[in-house]
Amino acid sequence: MRVIGLIGGMSWESSSEYYRIVNEVTRARLGPLYSAKSLMYPVNFHEIEAMQRSGRWDEAAAVLIDAAGRLERGGAACLVLCTNTMHKLAEEVQSATRLPLLHIADATAKQIKARGIRKVGLLGTAFTVEQDFYKGRLAKRFGLEVVVPETSKQQLVHRIIYDELCQGKVLPESKVYYTEIMDGLIDDGAEGIILGCTEIMLLVGQTESRVPVFDTTRIHAEAAVDFALEDLYVN
Ligand code: GLU
Repeated sequence: MRVIGLIGGMSWESSSEYYRIVNEVTRARLGPLYSAKSLMYPVNFHEIEAMQRSGRWDEAAAVLIDAAGRLERGGAACLVLCTNTMHKLAEEVQSATRLPLLHIADATAKQIKARGIRKVGLLGTAFTVEQDFYKGRLAKRFGLEVVVPETSKQQLVHRIIYDELCQGKVLPESKVYYTEIMDGLIDDGAEGIILGCTEIMLLVGQTESRVPVFDTTRIHAEAAVDFALEDLYVN
């Protein structure tokens, strides 16, 4: 079994979900007392959020590269960056390490394609939804058409992520807002919805959507277990 290296802390509310899911999936696949071999290096999200807000992405990349080095020296066999947003820096991190970085958008796109879906709605932080690093990858590498909420709704999605979900607050009114916004994306033709921020699964899931929901936290954690167990089946 390979050791999964998790770069966590963005926020720790979702990192703890990654830890739970990699272990649950390993147990489900191998047997009741099995657990995943993993290392997590959680960064301090207070510092990362300030860097995001002020556009200090080079400094953020340095923090992630430092975390990757710690995990590599600790014996990790892969890197799992436990956030969609910080995949903005995936190339910088990948080029600074020998470990494979398991890209969250790739794992998610494969699941979407497997369901025969071509047009998908995306919820996430403003960085993820407005910039091209995520949407562009889904479009160029996987041929997916991505629809996003209009600006005012997008701002609400973003605010709820940082002011509530990353702080462990799961509020019923926010669940209603997210459900309405997902409904709007479906009305705009989305055949599936990407929960493209790793805390969103704390608030909404399949029950709140008329179309298939793609929970990036679960999908990414499962992809990590696939990688960790690959050598068991190969050797
Ligand atoms: N965990 C979130 C994501 O998946 C947002 C926090 C962050 O900015 O990293 O995008």
